[in-house]
Amino acid sequence: MKVLLVQLPVPNNKLSNLPLALGYLKASADAARIPGLQVEILERQTQDRGGDAFLLDAILERDPDLVGFSLYTWNSSRAIGLARALKQTAPEILTVGGGPEVNRDGDFVISAADALDFLVLGEGERTFVELLQALNNKATSPTPKRPFHPSSFILHPLSIPGLAYHPASSREWVFNPPRTAVEDVNLLPSVYLSGALEGFLGRFMMIELSRWCPSKCSFCYYGRQDLPLGGKRYFEVERLRQELLFGMEHGVEQVHFVEANFNTLPHLKQIYQTIKETGANRRMGFYAEMRGEAIDEEEADRLAECNFGVVECGLQSAVPEVLARVRRKNHLPRLVRGVHLLRERGIEVFLDAILGLPGDTPETFRQTLAFIEDNGLAPYDLFHLQILPGTQLKTEAQSGKHGLEWQSAPPYFALQTAELSFEQLCELRRETLERKGEDPAEIQGLPIPGPFSLTLLPKNEISGELIDQLPLERLVIDRVGLEDKPALQSLARRLASEVTIWLRLERLDEAGLKAAQEALTILSEPNPSGAWHIFVEGDRPLTEAERAELLKAIHHREGYLDRLAVFALLERDPTRFTAWPSVNLFEVVPWQPALQQMAGPKTIWKIDLKEEQTLEQWQARMEETAGAPGYGLYVRFPVEISVAKVRALLEDFEPGHRMLFLAEPNFAAGLASTENEDLTLLSFPTTLELDKTGRHSSQFSQHSIEKAALRWTVAHRLKVSSGNLTV
Ligand code: SF4
Repeated sequence: MKVLLVQLPVPNNKLSNLPLALGYLKASADAARIPGLQVEILERQTQDRGGDAFLLDAILERDPDLVGFSLYTWNSSRAIGLARALKQTAPEILTVGGGPEVNRDGDFVISAADALDFLVLGEGERTFVELLQALNNKATSPTPKRPFHPSSFILHPLSIPGLAYHPASSREWVFNPPRTAVEDVNLLPSVYLSGALEGFLGRFMMIELSRWCPSKCSFCYYGRQDLPLGGKRYFEVERLRQELLFGMEHGVEQVHFVEANFNTLPHLKQIYQTIKETGANRRMGFYAEMRGEAIDEEEADRLAECNFGVVECGLQSAVPEVLARVRRKNHLPRLVRGVHLLRERGIEVFLDAILGLPGDTPETFRQTLAFIEDNGLAPYDLFHLQILPGTQLKTEAQSGKHGLEWQSAPPYFALQTAELSFEQLCELRRETLERKGEDPAEIQGLPIPGPFSLTLLPKNEISGELIDQLPLERLVIDRVGLEDKPALQSLARRLASEVTIWLRLERLDEAGLKAAQEALTILSEPNPSGAWHIFVEGDRPLTEAERAELLKAIHHREGYLDRLAVFALLERDPTRFTAWPSVNLFEVVPWQPALQQMAGPKTIWKIDLKEEQTLEQWQARMEETAGAPGYGLYVRFPVEISVAKVRALLEDFEPGHRMLFLAEPNFAAGLASTENEDLTLLSFPTTLELDKTGRHSSQFSQHSIEKAALRWTVAHRLKVSSGNLTV
């Protein structure tokens, strides 16, 4: 039996998508030694970056008997869409959903009965392994191709606790009794030491320290788990030691402890000791969530000694009555002290506040903001209350308590409480972001176009061969390329989940725009959950009607990213958005003052800087656009460019809220490196050009990127994080 496991990423943070839960499933299944069983986790590049069609084809290519999807709030919309497409294409492949999204009250997942054959509720390892064992035993009359057709498979209803399944000839769910939590988590194999996550480790690893939280905050899934108290829900320190050593051997530089209350763990001293004894604090940086209240001078010193670079402390609210409504306990003076002690030691603190908690009024929410500001606790992150499946708050909300209304699909934002209307939530969000110095028009969590969206790749960097394995993240298509329908159809199946499409039309005439519409339809049809950054380069801005026609041509299914935008767009029902927030349509137009009248917030002004011009002329040219509407500037330098001149130009340039796109790859790469301070984030998008000369695919090598970053560093005399740059 071939089993394939899939975990789709957080849309705007793909680097964090280490499939820890899938690692546990694979390690547990491998340890069970089920005859003939092969468990594979879909490889990282595909699941992190692949678009809908790319993922579907990748799954089918592996010819699995069963596909398991790890469902979290941020990926369940897409994953269920993928499971549905899989069932429509190959109904004989069994599909299983598990993870925090799967709960008895998780209507969004439960309503996907057409897409999923089984649900695993609660901790999944034992339920999943028993399901695989049962499937293997039931395969009594296998056909050579598919021994596991769902219609020939009936489980005994009570045989596997924690499992939901469909009885014969029905798509209704039957829920088996719940499974109790694992009595001793140390009996679960280590995802690292077992080799289950081989090939998934980069510079970052996640380590679980426990599966337990002593608190019971009603909005939190973690606190709801009815788990036994005691040592056996903590992983032993020896395992931590071995995993840290493993991480160091494999070049890991950053460790994220998957732990809600790091500094209240009973074996905390041993953990600190282990970090130091292994030397991990000299080779790795650490991150954990912790209780700010429990941090005193000594604790803060230990965290600093152990090289904790970032910690997260929940405040949520500073109003005791509001905290009491959600069963949260904070000791505010100690929390303030803890945050300051950490920051004094150079440890970055992410502080969280939640908007929309039951009992919060505009006045009490402003009290929380004032508390943060008066106590010097900023910066902090603003979260909207989510009514998550499986939480106490959801149970209360469903019974009508708190006057809550919320989104029926992820992210499940609370849209109204007894004390706060939707309009007040929008207003408080705007006010908070303005107080924080952030742009309220920006939709937090939505991917924005990358710094290489309009970067021209020199021909000598282009490989000339199609990059076969990687999803394509950028298409550059000219007027001739738009006519190549067969090429577009095949490219549609190779796209990434987030795609930049640069349509170089030159003249915006009717035929060109029609061809652009057709191309967008072809590309988007098999990728309905895509996030799109579309740049139409022409001789003028688009009219409203042209823009609407282009947007209409894109096939898109409302998803998590769109629903994130409800408060920014002041519209509680996403189906009424005039345009999907995850579909960005920009126009790239040569800068001419006369075109300002036609421009809008999605206009990007193209500026060509001529070699014979002085620096002052370059600066004047860029400053001309200062009062014009628009999203950003697209700057093209002469071929032979003086590093000093670029440095002088960009150092004095104040783009304000505007995005800067650079045509010249050396500088674009450097710009990104100084923003991200991490060269691994720097990969140029896998690009395919479809133009009158044919197809060219390309991806910069790490070496090229490092060279480019160095060039930028020299230009700006900035220090990038890697000390290994060579020219
Ligand atoms: S919010 Fe934190 S402290 Fe509260 S229950 Fe969840 S994990 Fe525990």
